Order: sequence, then C-alpha cells, then structure tokens
Amino acid sequence: MRILILGGTTEASRLAAALAGRADIAAVLSYAGRTREPAAQPIPVRVGGFGGAEGLARYLADETIDLIVDATHPFAERISANAATAAAATGTVIVAFTRPPWQRQPGDDWFEVADNAAALAALGPAPRRVFLTIGRLGIGDFRVGPPHHYLIRAIDPPPADDLPADHRLVLARGTFGRDEEIALMRAHAIDVLVTKNSGGEATYAKIAAARELGLPVVLVRPPARPDVPEVHTLAACLDAIAAHGSTLSTGTERRV
Ligand code: NAP
Repeated sequence: MRILILGGTTEASRLAAALAGRADIAAVLSYAGRTREPAAQPIPVRVGGFGGAEGLARYLADETIDLIVDATHPFAERISANAATAAAATGTVIVAFTRPPWQRQPGDDWFEVADNAAALAALGPAPRRVFLTIGRLGIGDFRVGPPHHYLIRAIDPPPADDLPADHRLVLARGTFGRDEEIALMRAHAIDVLVTKNSGGEATYAKIAAARELGLPVVLVRPPARPDVPEVHTLAACLDAIAAHGSTLSTGTERRV
C-alpha cells in the first residue's frame, strides 16, 4: 500500500516511525518546507507545496497513492482543504489524524477568539507583558497596535519586519515541561499568554502553567475541518490503514 502522510506535526512523525520498516507499506512523509531543519525521519521525505489541490491530485495519480493521511496541524487550513478536494477528485481514500482541541479545565481563565486580529484586540489598549506562541508566520499580526511587550517563542526566526518593536525572541523547539513554562513566564513577568488552541499533549504545558500562575490565556480557536473521516490516536490511525489494506487485498470498495 502506498501512503502519503501530510506532515509537519508530532502525529505525522509518530505515524512515520510506526510505519518505517513495514514490508507491506511504502509511505512518504510530506513537509511544506517551513522549518529549516525538520526532525530526521525513518521513511522517505518530500518537501514543498504540490501546487494546490490540482497539483496534489496529479501527485496522487503519478505516485499511485492508495491512501492519504492528513496529519497536518489543526491550523493548516489550506492543505487540509486541498487534500480533501484532491482525494475526492482522484477517488483516493483519506483519513485525517488530528488532535481534538484543548478543553477548558477548572481554574482556566480563557478568552477564546477567532483569529490573531481578535487576539490583539483582546489584549486591550494598556501595555501588557505577553507570552506569544502563535507560530512564526503569525507574529506580523502583532507588529502594530498598543505598545505591549512580547516574549515570542518560535522554532525558526520570524521575518525581521514582522517583529513588534518591544519584544524578546526565544528560539526553541518543544516539548516543554510545565515547570519549565512556569519558570519562563515568571522570569519574564508575563501577565497574559496568547496562543492557538492546537490541541495535543506536546504543547499543552504552557496552558497548564498559565492555570497554575492564575494568568489569563487568549486562545485562537481552530478553523473548521473538511468533512473527512478523522482519528485522534496512533492506534486508531493504524487500524484505519489496516482496514484499507484489507479492502485493497480483497478488492472490495476503497473506504476507510
Ligand atoms: P496551509 O496554510 O494549510 O498551507 C499552505 C500551503 O503550503 C499549501 O497550500 C501547500 O502548498 C503547502 N503545504 C502545507 N502543508 C504541506 C505539506 N505537509 N506538504 C506539502 N505542502 C504543504 O499550511 P500552514 O499553516 O502554512 O502550515 C504549513 C505546514 O506547517 C503544514 O505542514 C503544517 O502541518 C505545519 N504546521 C503548521 C502550523 C500552523 O500553526 N499553521 C503549526 C505547526 C506546524 P500547495 O498548495 O502548493 O500544495
């Protein structure tokens, strides 16, 4: 079975590790190419856009892909839409390996917003000390506006022109522990966290840290997902792959 994993997430890397070395599966992991030095992978990797839904459909046909696993980030809206469209156009089976968004816990002081512009507005006019972990390419949305101090954490440096005037940049790749996040927020006298509701365990520690410190969190809601079958665990994803494998080997209808 030939599988295309759309990646750029912990879920995609975990799936790649689980499929590596399987004689019955040829899987390739696709990266957009945003991160300069992505983590090494135990399966073949391709990097760069496909050229929209049409380009992706061509790739699926050229590479005779049997199954797409959309394991992209919950905020990577365009590639997920393209994958759903290209799968439908080519009759390729698709399953999304996603994380459910975080749910508010007792003690959380969340202000949920639709996008970065609303997050900036939610900070209000008075200067705040903001811990901003919104992704390297969203930083520009906070460049103008009230003179908040931003502690910005990203894997690679954001474009220099996107940086707000008053900022401190920390380049780091998680996972971070709760105590580490508490220490960082204390050291920088942070009074509000601005982040995306990305779900999953890998980046949850900052949410738990804000709760522990009694800090408010401005949380950007994830966009709506295309209507494709969805799994939330590696085991369920492997089951979906196995189910499709058995339809391929018995020649029955291709559906996950
Ligand atoms: P996006 O807006 O949904 O996608 C923009 C374009 O990038 C797509 O149309 C596609 O180009 C290309 N692309 C995206 N993911 C790709 C992949 N896995 N393989 C090949 N091409 C891909 O995505 P984004 O928000 O810029 O995110 C880019 C990548 O970073 C994704 O792989 C995502 O999983 C990862 N990521 C995103 C976030 C986030 O907050 N958005 C956070 C962590 C990781 P073509 O149309 O030319 O095919």
